[in-house]
Order: sequence, then C-alpha cells, then structure tokens
Amino acid sequence: MRALYPGSFDPLTLGHLDLIERGCNLFGEVVVAVLQNPGKTPAFPLERRLDQIRIATRHLNGVEVISFDGLTVQCARDQKVNLILRGLRAMSDFEYELQIAHTNRSLCADFETVFLATSAHHSFLSSSVVKEVARFGGPVGHMVPEVVADDLARLFNLPFPARM
Ligand code: ADP
Repeated sequence: MRALYPGSFDPLTLGHLDLIERGCNLFGEVVVAVLQNPGKTPAFPLERRLDQIRIATRHLNGVEVISFDGLTVQCARDQKVNLILRGLRAMSDFEYELQIAHTNRSLCADFETVFLATSAHHSFLSSSVVKEVARFGGPVGHMVPEVVADDLARLFNLPFPARM
C-alpha cells in the first residue's frame, strides 16, 4: 500500500520523521508531499525542504518526496494514492484534522485519512516551536534531524552546529 503524507514541513522535525518511519512500517510506501503554498513565506525554500526530507529519510526504503500546490486530494489522485496519513499530537490538532479529513472525503468519497498518534516524546514538537527555539540560540538537536539542525544554525547565524 501507498500513503500520502502531506504537510508544510518547514522544517522537518523528529515528530514528522517518526510518522514517516511508522507509515513505512504500516503501509510499505509513503509519499511525503511538501506543500508549496505561495501565500506564505517559508523559513526554508521548497527545494531545501525537499532535500532535508530526502537526506533525513535515506535510511528508509519506500519513501518518495515530492512537492505540490493546490488541493491535497488532487495531489493524491495524481500519485494514484487514496490514503492520506496525518499525525495527531493533542486535542488541538484533532478538530482541525477532522475538518480537513471530512472536507477531503466530501471532495473524493473513496479517500481515507489515517491518523497516527504522535510518539509521546515528540508530542510537544512542531516546526514553529523548533524555529522559535533556534532563533534564540537554544539547542534543537533533540528536536530535528541533523541536516535540519545545521540548516537552522545557518539560518539564524548560530555557532555551528546548533546541536546538543
Ligand atoms: P501542516 O502545515 O499541513 O499542518 P505540518 O508540516 O505542520 O503541516 O504537519 C504535517 C502533519 O504532521 C500534520 O498531520 C501534523 O499533525 C503532523 N505532525 C506535526 N508534528 C508532529 C509531531 N510532533 N508528531 C506527530 N505528528 C506531527
């Protein structure tokens, strides 16, 4: 089976990576789809976010990394996937994720969204928290893959590398 894991990944965290690894174990193949989102200025350009994910998932078989803009269901259709993988950290994620899942199903009735509960030790992690910590010079080595920690150090001019 193939699952589509869509998101902004700006940048990839260990929480995302955990979900990709578990998705591979469950489904065999995971297509990580990085949202281009021209409406937002990301911390990392699309090409760099794709590279970060490619580098951080090199140890995994069955991961493909692509970019998309527009509707997730259209991207899934193009990829010939009808299973969308999303993560749940807390109740605050649930309401939003449920709304998106219902919306996607209303657009395409044969789509399923599968939610994986975050691993407890990653439950506090989000891309914005990571950027906030790195911006003020805090260590992020326990939050992101090595390639992202190095990129954050470069982005915020931190002593290199900003790892623990
Ligand atoms: P989006 O902008 O679409 O929310 P994100 O890149 O922030 O994209 O997240 C993509 C998906 O990964 C979402 O389903 C989100 O709930 C999930 N996710 C984010 N952080 C974690 C984490 N620490 N543990 C598990 N899932 C996570």
